[in-house]
Amino acid sequence: MRTAVTAERRARLTGQFSELHLDALVVSALPNIRYLTGFTGSHALLLLTPSAATLFTDPRYEIQANRECDCPVRVVKGPLTRAASALLARKGARDIGFESSRLIYDAWAALGRDLGRQRRLRPVSGLVEKLRMVKSPEEIDRIEHSVAVNSKAFEKALGRFKPEMREMELAAELDYQMRRLGAEGPAFETIVASGVRTALPHARPTSEPIRSNTLLLIDMGAQCGGYASDMTRVVAIGNPGKTFRSMYAAVLEAQQAATASVRPGVNAGRVDATARRVLRRHGLDRLFSHSTGHGLGLEIHESPRLGKKEKTALETGMAITIEPGVYLEGSGGIRIEDTVVVTDEGVRVLTPTPKELVTL
Ligand code: ZN
Ligand code: ZN
Repeated sequence: MRTAVTAERRARLTGQFSELHLDALVVSALPNIRYLTGFTGSHALLLLTPSAATLFTDPRYEIQANRECDCPVRVVKGPLTRAASALLARKGARDIGFESSRLIYDAWAALGRDLGRQRRLRPVSGLVEKLRMVKSPEEIDRIEHSVAVNSKAFEKALGRFKPEMREMELAAELDYQMRRLGAEGPAFETIVASGVRTALPHARPTSEPIRSNTLLLIDMGAQCGGYASDMTRVVAIGNPGKTFRSMYAAVLEAQQAATASVRPGVNAGRVDATARRVLRRHGLDRLFSHSTGHGLGLEIHESPRLGKKEKTALETGMAITIEPGVYLEGSGGIRIEDTVVVTDEGVRVLTPTPKELVTL
């Protein structure tokens, strides 16, 4: 990430400090630290005051942090919270924000102890996440690349599909293809489910063979250049039967209607309601047990959530998924998911993989 970009993001954050009555903010969530400094390691704390940023990390990351970060780096032996508290004391900070939904309890307790009575720890939540909701053109390019890699990996792995292949084997093939195409790895544990197990929205691949005349559900995402992609497709292995074909058509209609309703200014909840309305017409809304989508970026699940009564208004530059699904216990399930971007004109679907029901 270019220096100017991360420095500008930090300025947008610290610009809110006086309004929030904060003298400093301790950022502990690694994706937030990456967003604000460029640091990609697995252990760090970022301390922000209105005039300075300091990254604390351990000796394993000394070289890497100094290369990646555009702010001073302190390499610490021992707890990072203790080093951060010492600096806060020197700066005379009194009201110190921490990420209440991201800081583990032990670290919070240690910070409180080290800071002493004169300083207050104030819970704040979602500050950086809110900035991260709207992506820059450079971030959208990265997401688009991640989506392209993901779809290519899907195509290549399905090309190697053989009847009676085990779910785990296919999942391994999907992950392997992703990495071969340049991904750091999967953005989440790849879901491969066949037969009745497609009715489990978050099924883990098993050692069961994928049998003929059944459905196969694949939900996969790549992590590429730090950014996630997310796609679900259901394919027919042989002939899964008429009921599933009509269920598939209904979910596809819901997915397309929800996608068409995306534009700046529309509430996330409205997009969700659009998908539900289509499924209700087909008598399937009760089988739709999760929300219609979610933001994604440095993490696979980000704000906004596209769920019932969700009030966040969509904005140009948000990257979200549209993924309605229906699940019939003991029988099977269908979900269709694309990654899309909100544009001034409405929506741009990034996922290139076709959505007609493919039969293998
Ligand atoms: Zn997914
Ligand atoms: Zn998703």
